[in-house]
Amino acid sequence: MWRFDQGRIEYFQFDELRKIAKYAVANDLRSAKRQALVQATGLPFYPASDAYPPWRNYSRVFRTALLVAKINEVAVPTKIAHLLAADGQVTSDDYFHFLAQTFTDPAPSFQEWRPSSEPRFPLLFALKFLLARSVTGSPVVTFPEIVGAYIKSKFDGEEDQAAFIGLAKKDWTSSDHRQARESIQIIGQISYLSATSTEITVSLDDDDALDIFEALHAVRGKQETDSEKEILRIANLFESAIADFEIDFSKTVLDETVEAGFSEGNRVERTHIVLERNAAIRKAFFDKNPTTICDFCKRDTKADYPWSERVLDIHHVLPLCSGTRSDRSGTILGDLEAVCPTCHRAVHHFYTKWLKAAGQKDFADADEARSVYDEAKQARKNG
Ligand SMILES: [Zn+2]
Ligand SMILES: [Zn+2]
Repeated sequence: MWRFDQGRIEYFQFDELRKIAKYAVANDLRSAKRQALVQATGLPFYPASDAYPPWRNYSRVFRTALLVAKINEVAVPTKIAHLLAADGQVTSDDYFHFLAQTFTDPAPSFQEWRPSSEPRFPLLFALKFLLARSVTGSPVVTFPEIVGAYIKSKFDGEEDQAAFIGLAKKDWTSSDHRQARESIQIIGQISYLSATSTEITVSLDDDDALDIFEALHAVRGKQETDSEKEILRIANLFESAIADFEIDFSKTVLDETVEAGFSEGNRVERTHIVLERNAAIRKAFFDKNPTTICDFCKRDTKADYPWSERVLDIHHVLPLCSGTRSDRSGTILGDLEAVCPTCHRAVHHFYTKWLKAAGQKDFADADEARSVYDEAKQARKNG
């Protein structure tokens, strides 16, 4: 049950999936040499031997991620790969909600897959269970609680709010299940979630959580009998599914996008703000780095305002469309910087100007985002 590709969390990081997609659109992933993929992505693609083309050990990652399907012995890039390869078209939230809405137990990238009239959607289940727990006042959920509830409830993921709220009030804890846990950690890149190695936390206003719950549905349609064609079919549903899945986080952030320095406050920027307002991520960050100093202007906010512990925002230094990266220990905090609210706004103004001048909708990858952040820091005039 709930098969996933074990030990591959880092390959499912949104920033990495964009790079793999770029490669897959320009080249045949199936015949890719290890060195070429290492260079294109920065991921290791072990074992480090040219005798093992990455396709052999990683084709399931590429297919589970809905980036390619193997048709006539070639890795054909899907519609999703084309969209991810394009600049700033799709957010991490769009992508991982869609993955949750389509991922079946088992998925067509697994040998055990057969067309089924009653597929179960374990990641959709996980998301809805998390949202139900959040609105019932316990937004911190361990992985065995989610997996236990999935096993024992026999839910397929499509059940309604009342059913999930009933479920969320009982204890279903089972033993750890590594593949299920890792797949939930992967969707932990969604802006309102954050993960550790043992649990995952929802940071949302209740009304927004209920809105998202209502917007979540299994994406079905008439299945293909061939698993590779089924991967292509699902990937083709992406654009219409994300158009239907319009979440504006109206209670959590909407007015703050403009305030944060974004001129338009579009979908990509809203996702970025939701992530930066994520209370669990903020707490985890300051627990680990109890700084009171703005990374940008070096002002010590505790010294200036001794009655406050700190007056700092967290800024996410990845492309605006990206979620927080995660690894086995959970959400990676190294992509975040503490900045005072004034500098934070100024950084986003700098981004807007930089992207406009470059004719881009978003940064190409984490390295570019980091270098523009550093450029902004250099350009700042010391007061
Ligand atoms: Zn500052
Ligand atoms: Zn920011």
